[in-house]
Amino acid sequence: MSEPNLFEQSPVYRMACDQLRDVAGLIDLDPNIAERLAVPKRSLVCAIPIKMDNGETEVFIGYRVQHSLTSGASKGGLRYSPHVDIGEVAALAMWMSWKCGIMNLPYGGAKGGIACDPATMSLGEKERLTRRFTEEVLPIIGPRTDVMAPDMGTDEQTMAWIYDTYSMKIGYACPEIVTGKPVELGGCIGRREATGRGVVFCIREALAELKIEPHEATAVVQGFGNVGSVTCEELAKHGTKVIAVGDRYGSIRNTNGIDVAALIRYVNADARKSVVGFPGAEAIADADLLTTPCTVLVPAAMERQITKENAAKLKCRILAEGANGPTTPEADALLSGSDIFVIPDILCNAGGVTVSYFEWVQDIQQLMWSHTQVNEKLRELMLDAFHRVRKMSKDRGIPMRMAALGLGVKKVAIEKQRRGLFP
Ligand code: GLU
Repeated sequence: MSEPNLFEQSPVYRMACDQLRDVAGLIDLDPNIAERLAVPKRSLVCAIPIKMDNGETEVFIGYRVQHSLTSGASKGGLRYSPHVDIGEVAALAMWMSWKCGIMNLPYGGAKGGIACDPATMSLGEKERLTRRFTEEVLPIIGPRTDVMAPDMGTDEQTMAWIYDTYSMKIGYACPEIVTGKPVELGGCIGRREATGRGVVFCIREALAELKIEPHEATAVVQGFGNVGSVTCEELAKHGTKVIAVGDRYGSIRNTNGIDVAALIRYVNADARKSVVGFPGAEAIADADLLTTPCTVLVPAAMERQITKENAAKLKCRILAEGANGPTTPEADALLSGSDIFVIPDILCNAGGVTVSYFEWVQDIQQLMWSHTQVNEKLRELMLDAFHRVRKMSKDRGIPMRMAALGLGVKKVAIEKQRRGLFP
């Protein structure tokens, strides 16, 4: 056994590697290729000193990891979160490779992160942080090299700052350097909603297979950021009752159904940014959120939320993973022995990067699509991917997660094999 590499100190990274190892046998992955896929291609760690509003200088640590550059530019979000580290970013970058592989997008996987708490920072501090980070990663980003997008703790405004900083450096406006930008700057209509919409396309296919009508189903959603809130909206639109929701500050429940539109207004009012205290529901303990009986459970927050401690207590029929890596491999082993229909993360939340791809294509062509074109194409690609994964799962008698990983890893592996090893 060789010494653990720098990424392997992270449980999230070990989890991504365990998944890769588990799927390798299933798809007869050449061990020489497996070796290359288990470590990210390129990583950059940088110190980002910025002047805080109080006049003091603070230094943040930033990361950008490009897992694979085999299929095209690397692609993936940038997250601002207090505990982000190189291993977590590397795992998320690896998952992006498989996600782009399943969706047949011409991208490799990447991810970035800055260890900071955006909830406690002013707009000016966040702008200086983002612009300085962009400057630091300049040598390894580019519209044909690595394209960033929003993730946890970042948004359209963050992308606008990156776009502007990059464009100022190269001397002309280059909207295709990032996706998830404001629509006025070349962002794609529907990009913000895309991940949640994709999650609900998958849920509806699973409900149809289980012969459950959407209006007979109930849902519990962990996380009320971009993915969680849009998922709730889309579920409600199709008649599915959202009965419990949680965020980092607390959890709420109303078994008669939460008024999602009212909850969104409540969260956005007075910069409250939390579901806690919503008058149309009762407070519940966070530990009870995931185990609330429901038809569909959507973890849409952090990785490693469904663990060997709580997996056997889940009382849902469908587990739709809106977050990246919400289920640990130990929990997964327990779930595969149950009758829970798992829609794995790299399939379930792939709507976001899919519409990012639409945005990149539109910016390169300077030809923008309509709302209908975006949503119809998203639906077509999500359903196609869902049914390819489902077919592999049924044909091979393997869990949905292994089928999804199998398809994603295989796409990248074939490309690596055909390109050969340089020199
Ligand atoms: N951060 C998102 C994800 O995890 C989107 C990435 C992108 O659009 O490039 O899939």
